[in-house]
Amino acid sequence: MSDQTGRNTQRPSIIPRSEHTVSRANISNNAIKVLHRLHKGGFQSFLVGGCVRDLLLKHQPKDFDVATDASPEEVRKLFRNCRLIGRRFRLAHIHFGREIIEVATFRATHDELDDDDIRGQTDAGGRILRDNRYGKLEDDVWRRDFTANALYYTLDGYSIWDFVGGFKDVEQRVLRVIGDPETRYREDPVRMLRAVRFAAKLDFSIDDPSEAPLWDLGHLLADVPPARLFDEIIKMFLAGRALESFRLLEHYRLLAHLFPALVAELEKDTDHRFRKLLLEGLATTDQRVREDKPVTTFFLFAVLLWAPIRKRFDGLHGGGKPPIPAMQQAVEDVVKAQQAHISVPRRTTIPLKEMLALQSRFNLRKGVRSLRFLHHPRFRAAYDFMLLRASSGDFDAQAAQWWTDIQLADDKTRREMAQVGRGGGAGKRKRRPRRRGARKRTADQGGQA
Ligand code: ATP
Ligand code: MG
Repeated sequence: MSDQTGRNTQRPSIIPRSEHTVSRANISNNAIKVLHRLHKGGFQSFLVGGCVRDLLLKHQPKDFDVATDASPEEVRKLFRNCRLIGRRFRLAHIHFGREIIEVATFRATHDELDDDDIRGQTDAGGRILRDNRYGKLEDDVWRRDFTANALYYTLDGYSIWDFVGGFKDVEQRVLRVIGDPETRYREDPVRMLRAVRFAAKLDFSIDDPSEAPLWDLGHLLADVPPARLFDEIIKMFLAGRALESFRLLEHYRLLAHLFPALVAELEKDTDHRFRKLLLEGLATTDQRVREDKPVTTFFLFAVLLWAPIRKRFDGLHGGGKPPIPAMQQAVEDVVKAQQAHISVPRRTTIPLKEMLALQSRFNLRKGVRSLRFLHHPRFRAAYDFMLLRASSGDFDAQAAQWWTDIQLADDKTRREMAQVGRGGGAGKRKRRPRRRGARKRTADQGGQA
């Protein structure tokens, strides 16, 4: 049975424990406590969203989200360790040490709202501004983004409730928007980025009707608050599938709406130097995530913004500005333009600027300053970034090798190395009196950044 909007108004298909692979053993004990306590309080409670999907896929869920018919205030009364957060979505966070179980009250979808209902509002373009109208489970399903994200797991019989065919879609690894894809993307353009993120992360294909609008709706991202885009970009690029996510963003022409300066430079990048650096940088980031090594937002943004930063640096340095202030200025200018699209917080831009300003110190391979550089707190990050540049032809390979060797050498060898300053590039060159325009060296002539 369907109503006029094409929605399936039937009861859910209930997948019994014997027919699915979600096991309690893989569910956080704290999440189970929350489900039980809500149930005992007389409320419905389900695990929902990414955790159910991930459990079916045999991935370890990042976190456990709970959906309930209890209002946030009712949830708060049941849990001492509860905090209410959010404005656009009011949510309860239940704290267990470092683990947070997020509890969301079922929400109604938008077309059921009256125009004057201030609890749910959209702008002229259909974008949802506020969404705090509570509903029943049957309503909650329809406001979720993809069928794979709309599966509800209950402790009552340990079954999965599926209103939208998500169970089969997970089995077949298909990402399908619930409802009319274009309308849903217009309501919240971040869903387009989520489509890319999940397709990359879960190795799902996007079904045709959900995929088609992606190519044309990138401009809607301009209306998303830049801070929200920053969060989404971090989720997308620091979860182990950065390379694939990047590929998909480009494929769907979404990239230009997120990183216009980068895309402009990539179009001019005839020898593919910057593309190479970017792809290698993202691949290394993915590798580090796989190896459980720390990854930082500033290194990621250095990788994503290097092409325009380098371009701006060349202009400033070529115009006579010394390398360090030229780099600082270049970072500032490029970041400032980028903020209009994605707000990059200071905790990212400050170390980003520091690390890139250090790049010019790799040109100095002689004397005590080069030895001291090895102990700089940002040396390691700067060195990793320099290696990326070297492997894409943006920095002298021999010079890069010198910096690798000196780190491995003992103290005596280090001093010797710093005396002769081997390794090609600026350190070896004899100083000549500077001629007019001598600074106007391009990247091809020795990577002076
Ligand atoms: P992960 O946590 O692995 O990134 P997730 O699917 O759990 O993936 P969350 O951002 O944690 O993603 O959101 C939890 C659930 O809330 C989703 O599974 C989805 O059902 C719903 N949801 C989140 N964001 C949106 C959105 N923008 N539009 C519609 N539903 C959403
Ligand atoms: Mg989640």
